[in-house]
Order: sequence, then C-alpha cells, then structure tokens
Amino acid sequence: MRVLYVEDEKHMALAVAQVLKKSNYSVDLAHDGEEGLDLALSGLYDIIILDIMLPKLDGIAVLSRMRQEGIETPVILLTAKGETEEKVRGLDSGADDYLAKPFQIEELLARLRALGRRKGYLAQGSMLGYADIELNYNTLDLYGNGQTFHLTLKESQLLELLITHQGQAVTNSIIIEKLWGWDSEAGDSHVQVQVAFLRKKLRLLTSRVKIKTIYGVGYMIAPGEEGRADV
Ligand code: CA
Repeated sequence: MRVLYVEDEKHMALAVAQVLKKSNYSVDLAHDGEEGLDLALSGLYDIIILDIMLPKLDGIAVLSRMRQEGIETPVILLTAKGETEEKVRGLDSGADDYLAKPFQIEELLARLRALGRRKGYLAQGSMLGYADIELNYNTLDLYGNGQTFHLTLKESQLLELLITHQGQAVTNSIIIEKLWGWDSEAGDSHVQVQVAFLRKKLRLLTSRVKIKTIYGVGYMIAPGEEGRADV
C-alpha cells in the first residue's frame, strides 16, 4: 500500500512515516498543500492522510481539488480536536474518514487497515510499466515476457524508485532513505545487494531493462535495446 502523508509539522511527519514504513506501507511526504495536491493528482496513492491546517493550500481545498479532478483515492483528514465544523466540511468535501489530532499511532494504523479493507482499494496506478516489464507495487509482482516473479518489498520499492526517476540517476542516499528510512544504519553495501537481487530477477524474466551503475552517483534504469535481452 502506498500512502501519501501531507503534514507541515516535519518532525511529526517523519515520526509517523517511520512507523508506517515499519508496517510495510510505502510512504511519501508532502509538507504543504500545493506539494500535496501535485502528488495526490498523480493518482499513484492507495490512501492519503491529509492534515487540514497546511501552508499555501489547506487540506479541505486540496481534497476538493482532488475530487474535482476525479481522483477518488481514500482520504483520512487530520482535524484539530473538537472542531466539529471542520469534520463536517471535510466529509462534505469527500473525505472518507477523519482523525482528531493529537492521535495515537495505533489508531491511525487501525483506520488505514479499515479503509483499505472497506474500499478493497488498489490505486489505478498500482501498475507501473517500463520497457518490457510491468510492476504491480501493491502485490509486488513483476511481469515480463509472459512470466511473473514475486519481488521482496525492498526490491519493489527500488524498482519503483528507478522507474519513477527514469532518465536520471538515483543517488544511494535517496535509495537508502526510501528503502530503510532516514535514520537507518543502512549504507552503500545494502544498496548494492538490493540492486544485485533486482538485476537477477530482471535477468530471470529475460527483460532487456538494465540497471546501470553511475559511478560516484548511484543507479539509473535504462530500457535496453529492443529485441535484445543479453548482457
Ligand atoms: Ca498542520
């Protein structure tokens, strides 16, 4: 499950994101309403946790714009305690659930599970295609040449990161932050191991997709030559 968390209190955002990642959610953060709306409109998320009080564009405005644009991703609104009017406005604007701040993280996890179940929801964008492969980053299945391989969560996150940054090198530090978290002890050797695993699965699929090492920088995905699956 891929979660977007729009929260301007960065310390809180990072703390919550860490817990969600430990519960196997993929988490992207946005720190103001405009950034949140841009990401939400990508349609890539399964659930959006949206704070109401945000700089630039408030949560209700983000939600209204999303719904106007036809983005039906379930939204949990974070409201100030006791603000009944906010809750009503939020639900009227198309929120699926709300949670009053401050909340217990267990409560948020329970709401996420319930919302996932209730909607039976997978983002329409849960399939990510690139050259001759297709990744379902919810089920972690990788398809190519009529075959399917199941990836580990980290392999799937790595491939997703490379595909969404195609045409550019993804640095080791970005990979570490996405796969292990900003405060982890993971280093370049952990990245190398995951890249090696992913390259092996691409070879098993006889995919022409390559993960190129950009020395001193990181890694970049390349489509390879059509009709060739060697090297
Ligand atoms: Ca806020």
